[in-house]
Amino acid sequence: KPAVGTAFRPGKVIVAGVTISSPDKVLWPAVGDRPAITKADLARYYEAAAERILPHVAHRPTSIIRAPDGITGDTFFQRHAMAGSNPRLKLIDVQARTPYVAAIDVGGLVAIGQSGGLELHPWGCAADQPEVPDQITFDLDPDEGLGFGDVIAAAKVVKVKLEALGLTPFVKTTGGKGLHVVVPIKADSRSRISWDQNKAFAKAVSEAIRVEAPDRFTTTLAKKARGGKIFIDYLRNGRMATAVAPWSPRARPGAGIAYPLSWGQVKAGLDPSAFNLWTYRTLLKKPDPWRDFRASAVSLKPALKKMGL
Ligand code: ATP
Ligand code: MN
Ligand code: MN
Repeated sequence: KPAVGTAFRPGKVIVAGVTISSPDKVLWPAVGDRPAITKADLARYYEAAAERILPHVAHRPTSIIRAPDGITGDTFFQRHAMAGSNPRLKLIDVQARTPYVAAIDVGGLVAIGQSGGLELHPWGCAADQPEVPDQITFDLDPDEGLGFGDVIAAAKVVKVKLEALGLTPFVKTTGGKGLHVVVPIKADSRSRISWDQNKAFAKAVSEAIRVEAPDRFTTTLAKKARGGKIFIDYLRNGRMATAVAPWSPRARPGAGIAYPLSWGQVKAGLDPSAFNLWTYRTLLKKPDPWRDFRASAVSLKPALKKMGL
């Protein structure tokens, strides 16, 4: 069994027991005085952040954005396991032609990095229960021209609504332009709901928020409906839909990471670009505001009832 940890061999880098090929390949170019981020750097990031990432990714079907030549090259969204998938990734049969993949440990995460996997996009369910959602994501997408302050205000509206329904919402940056408000729900045999119910609930809550402030919110996917509004994207909540994982890097300039926040941080002055692959070591020293994420899950059934569903 290979030792966990980083070791150097002539011409080779081994991270968490995974050999990293082309370790010096640049994935994110240098920006000003911030150095380029290489494949070895990404592998070390996955190793360092594994404890924070794995609770949200391990044993979940996960799509991966791969950018084997870095963010300036071609990127593609990989839904299925590919021939030669690393044996450290678990294969999941969801009655599809090709199995899906999931990391189960730090070696799996590093193996994703080794394959040029820059972004982790898990489904809203566990691999052993692919028909049972266990979380709901409200993806807040600001129209161009809106400031981050508008996104912050929107997230608080969603929070209040969800709390009134007896749920415990969590919030994270996306490493991009918006915020995600995420609700853990129970998936045991007494609490389990269907994907249709999950999506209907997310839609109903989003519609209720739009009806209360139609000048601020839209629930229509079409870009032209967005004029100066926040699009509450509830479409993350169907079967096989994904949302970026907490702590996932983004294959975008700025090397942002999707960063779990406490609600207290969601206020004026919050700068989502501060959470990135250059600053993560400091971020990992802070307590985890999502530590109680899974423990906060409740059955969605009473909330469904309150929404008339
Ligand atoms: P931002 O804050 O910039 O909107 P985001 O991660 O929320 O970042 P979106 O475009 O709103 O980006 O997408 C929300 C989620 O939908 C993503 O996290 C991803 O999991 C999924 N998604 C987006 N685009 C695709 C795609 N082309 N194929 C599959 N899933 C996608
Ligand atoms: Mn979004
Ligand atoms: Mn979206």
